Amino acid sequence: MIGSMDEIILDEIILGDVTVTRVKEFYGPVGMSPAHLFPDSPEGSWDAHRDWLAPDFWNPETDECHTAVQSWLLRSEGRTILVDTGVGDHEDRPYVPVWSRRDNGFLDNLAAAGVRPEDVDVVVNTHLHVDHVGWNTRLDGRTWVPTFPNATYLIARPDFEFWDPAGERGTARGDRNAFEDSVTPVHRAGLTHLWDGSYRIDRNLRLDLAPGHTPGSSALVLDSGGDRALFVGDLVHTPLQIVEPDVDSCFCVDPAAARATRRRLLGQAAESGALVFPAHFGGRGAAEVARDGTKFAIKEWAAFPRLS
Ligand SMILES: [Zn+2]
Repeated sequence: MIGSMDEIILDEIILGDVTVTRVKEFYGPVGMSPAHLFPDSPEGSWDAHRDWLAPDFWNPETDECHTAVQSWLLRSEGRTILVDTGVGDHEDRPYVPVWSRRDNGFLDNLAAAGVRPEDVDVVVNTHLHVDHVGWNTRLDGRTWVPTFPNATYLIARPDFEFWDPAGERGTARGDRNAFEDSVTPVHRAGLTHLWDGSYRIDRNLRLDLAPGHTPGSSALVLDSGGDRALFVGDLVHTPLQIVEPDVDSCFCVDPAAARATRRRLLGQAAESGALVFPAHFGGRGAAEVARDGTKFAIKEWAAFPRLS
């Protein structure tokens, strides 16, 4: 029997003084196989974990990875904090057609969680890839304007400088277009705070740099009332990277640094009992991890309903 009548499953869990709500934008196959998305997967590793990777994270029949795009909505010390803003609607993404000109209706899901755009106080972009900044802005006529007009957008400076076309290093391929429609408008509106190293949001929440996947990738550390969590963006895209922590995604900018950071943060989570919240897990969305020799294992899934 899976679950029981006693088990109450909500889109929301409480960790210390912080309420965490899952807000879905998209869930399903994105036309990429494990060999494409995770090219250095050890031979046979997906099959070895097939009994629990399928169907939430992988469809073995079509050999497609199943991916969620979701925001983690935090309510802490009276403020509303949105961690990552997904793909967005209507953006033109010629280099990544699956995310081009979408109409996912994310703001309706946010409204169902009780949040209007003007209610958001803080936006955290864990990094500046196309699927983490989309709803930073919305289309108003032909102009991209901030979706969350009262928010401070927290962006790590190394990512901002990496993709800023006006900056010295702003030569990164592809995602420049996302920078222009989803980052530049909030920066020009004076809503960004560019941070480096570490940044404290409030007594419960702190941002730390976690470079590798991108130069300014970050982890949001929750420590409240004895409960701990790590919101890790794309440190891991699939739970296979927990049991095989040296597997990078094909989108990691600095694979060696990504592996080192992954091992460091998963180790920290295992030791502290922190719930790990990646950006793209379907299924129960987040998990506690444990050390398993030189690798890691899923200790327990979070109490969110499985995405469908
Ligand atoms: Zn991503």
